[in-house]
Amino acid sequence: MDSIIEIISNAYSNYASYFWRSLIHPFFEGDLNYFYYLILVSLAVWGLEILLPWRKKQALFRKDFWLDAFYMFFNFFFFNLLLYTALSDVSVYYLNRVLSAVGIESVTLYDFSGQAMWIQFLAFFLLSDFIQWSVHNLLHRVDFLWQFHKVHHSVKEMGFAAHLRYHFMETVVYNSLKYLGLIMLFNFSLQDAFIIHGVTILIGHLNHANVSWDYGPLKYILNNPKMHIWHHAKDLPESHPKGMNFGISLSLWDYVFGTNYIPHSGRDIELGFDDDEEYPQGFFSQLVEPFKKIFTSPKN
Ligand SMILES: [Zn+2]
Ligand SMILES: [Zn+2]
Repeated sequence: MDSIIEIISNAYSNYASYFWRSLIHPFFEGDLNYFYYLILVSLAVWGLEILLPWRKKQALFRKDFWLDAFYMFFNFFFFNLLLYTALSDVSVYYLNRVLSAVGIESVTLYDFSGQAMWIQFLAFFLLSDFIQWSVHNLLHRVDFLWQFHKVHHSVKEMGFAAHLRYHFMETVVYNSLKYLGLIMLFNFSLQDAFIIHGVTILIGHLNHANVSWDYGPLKYILNNPKMHIWHHAKDLPESHPKGMNFGISLSLWDYVFGTNYIPHSGRDIELGFDDDEEYPQGFFSQLVEPFKKIFTSPKN
């Protein structure tokens, strides 16, 4: 019991001191300062929206701009501070205990740790993006996961900050499966994948930005605003009843697995999902909504 309390208190104190260090030292060495990086990338992509707007009539402070800005910081920092770091450290502790109890020492499929750094970076990026693409498919196809993912799809006017509007349970689902897939099955010796993380934040912000970019021929590899807007379409085509364009950073997987769909310019399509008029509008009501849906059975 002691060790669990120790793990939780260590997780909290490590994360709290990391967060505090980020705030007071914008340029600490050896790592990316995510706090200021997020602010910088947000301002830069917002600047693009202001200079080169795709939907010219969309307000600079579009519908839910501040709600999304709050989600952005909540999901990126406060959720970690409040719960996630401790929860994940405890889960890893138990997972390892369960594995060793059943006599499994290692579940490594392939060990990347001896490979050149660039191979490791590339493999890490491709594998983590593919795992996230797969998880995103599940979020649309498994009903209880969809209840959580609806928060992200409740965006009615698209802009960069919508990128990080999601229910905190998505962090738990994505990160657990990424941990299982990446850390346990493939062993990497990357000190810190902050370059990859930094690039994915930028791509994700751009995917949701009000700009009409598709990166030309690179659109078959990189996810982009003109593709991702269709992911948020309210009306789904018969060919893709559970959704389409599930890519996170890369569009590649959608083209490989046939879940790509861009019938025409999606500039003015309606975003959302069926009955989204009745969906709660506030942060706390959106956090509670999926649990309410999952735990209250429909009355006859
Ligand atoms: Zn989605
Ligand atoms: Zn999105």
